[in-house]
This record gives sequence, C-alpha cells and structure tokens, in this order.
Amino acid sequence: MGRALEISGLRAGYGKITVLWDVDLHADDGELVTIIGANGAGKTTLLRTISGLVQARAGSMSAFGATSLLGLSAARIVRSGIGHVPEGRQLFPLMTVRENLESGAEYLSRAKPNAARNRKLVFDLFPRLAERGAQLAGTLSGGERQMLAIGRALMSDPRLLLVDEPSLGLSPALSLTVFRALRQINAEGVTVVLVEQNVQQSLRIADRAYVLENGEVVKEGSGRELLGDPGVRAAYLSL
Ligand code: ATP
Repeated sequence: MGRALEISGLRAGYGKITVLWDVDLHADDGELVTIIGANGAGKTTLLRTISGLVQARAGSMSAFGATSLLGLSAARIVRSGIGHVPEGRQLFPLMTVRENLESGAEYLSRAKPNAARNRKLVFDLFPRLAERGAQLAGTLSGGERQMLAIGRALMSDPRLLLVDEPSLGLSPALSLTVFRALRQINAEGVTVVLVEQNVQQSLRIADRAYVLENGEVVKEGSGRELLGDPGVRAAYLSL
C-alpha cells in the first residue's frame, strides 16, 4: 500500500509564533485518518500547511509516494490531487450552488471532461445540491453549505481530501449525514484526513487517529484504540 501523505518533522507558524513543532504523520492510500485536539492545538494550521496556504518552516511533506509538497503553490497542490474543505466553508455567498461547484473545478488538470463526471458524483452524493443548483450559496442552510463545501472540493478530483471541522454548527442529525458522506467518499477510494471537534463521531469512522496538543503529536492509534484510551476519554469525551 502506498502513502497518500507523509509528513516528517514539520514545523510551521505565523510571524514569530511557531504553531507546529516537528509533526510526524501519515495517511496510507484509502485510509480515513482523523486529527483531534483542543482549540488552538494547530489542527487548522496543519491542514493549511499541507495545502500550501501556510509555508512550512522545516521538515518534509510528500504526497502519493512521490511529490514533495514543500514550496509548491496552493494551486499546484490542488492539481496534484489534494482537495481542501476549509474551516468555516468559505463559499462564495453571492454565487449560486452550481457556480460554487464550478469554482472547485478551476484547478483540474484535464479540465472539462472530468468536471461533468465530478458534478454527477457530487449530485449523487448530495441530491439536495442538485435541487438547489440555482440558489445563492449565502441563502443555504448550514448543512447544505457544508455539503457544498465538500462538493466543491470534490470537483477538483482529489485523491486526498483534507476536511476541516465539517460538523461545526450542525445539528447532530446533519453531522451524521456529513460523516456518512465522508465515509462514502472514502469508500470510493479517496484518502481522507479529517480534523474534528466531534471526537466521538470522528474516532468512530476513522481507521487511525492522531492527538495534537500544542502543535505536537502526543498520541497515535486506531480510531477504536483512541476511543477506549482513558486519557482521550478524559480530555476530549468528558467520560
Ligand atoms: P480550533 O480547533 O480552535 O480551530 P486549531 O487546533 O485548528 O484550533 P489553529 O487554528 O491551527 O488551531 O491555531 C493554532 C494557533 O495558531 C492558535 O494559537 C492561533 O491563534 C494561531 N493562529 C492561527 N492562524 C493565525 C494567523 N493567521 N496569524 C497568527 N496566528 C494564527
């Protein structure tokens, strides 16, 4: 099995602040890996560094067993097969659902033929988006917006999907819908790296998980192992 993502000794931050300290982490092809940790632990920064939105200061990052991601532009990283569903969704509120989806296809390597196929895939996964194609994204419900943010990332044909806090602000029922969709995307062969506050749900669906504290990986294990880990239960599950 190949490595969809391999990170070693990764350091990153903002200005004088270092947020990530020597992070080692990997995702094998086809895995669903979740990263949990308290607010401010550096989870979003980690995903943004993989995507080229924050510059790495030290360490190495490679994707699909070959491509070094260091120094690549965010656009080039999307083209290499890495999609990012950002925290807070970051849709274009005054553009329609369809237009938002098309914006996700902007960085496809072989553009148009795949765009139609990907659109069908997204609409099969989230039929609600097909019904709302002409609606402005800013008028969608929170759950629909999250579906659109995931759909937009899928339009770029990713082999690796980074997903940041998809359940934020959603009802438990809608969160379940989103988690199910992520499992389905994963079952279709897309490797998923998921950052989540909903620790219980994310550990349940994860093959493996990492705990990030103050910018360092402090624990790693299968989703099931970490669900049963007393430290994780005390810190993140209030059990
Ligand atoms: P949360 O679960 O609250 O989203 P997180 O684990 O995703 O937290 P990050 O958003 O990565 O954490 O933030 C890690 C640290 O980096 C925090 O102390 C935050 O204030 C700081 N930080 C994040 N973005 C910036 C920025 N653009 N400029 C300066 N500091 C930042």
